[in-house]
Amino acid sequence: MQILLYNNIMTFYIPYNNILSMGQITLKGYVCERCKHKWVPRDKKKPMVCPKCKSPYWDRKKKILIK
Ligand SMILES: [Zn+2]
Repeated sequence: MQILLYNNIMTFYIPYNNILSMGQITLKGYVCERCKHKWVPRDKKKPMVCPKCKSPYWDRKKKILIK
């Protein structure tokens, strides 16, 4: 299995091989910037929060505050 990661969107390439056919399954997933949790969404739209840490900023890197 090969995983490509670009801009918080993961792409899994899962090769499969059985009696009927062989090929490749492509799955889209996301990675949380906060807790590094990886998941595959059930629907097409972008998730609002990370399912693990519930952060709404899962797709954004932490900002460094300059005081
Ligand atoms: Zn998270």
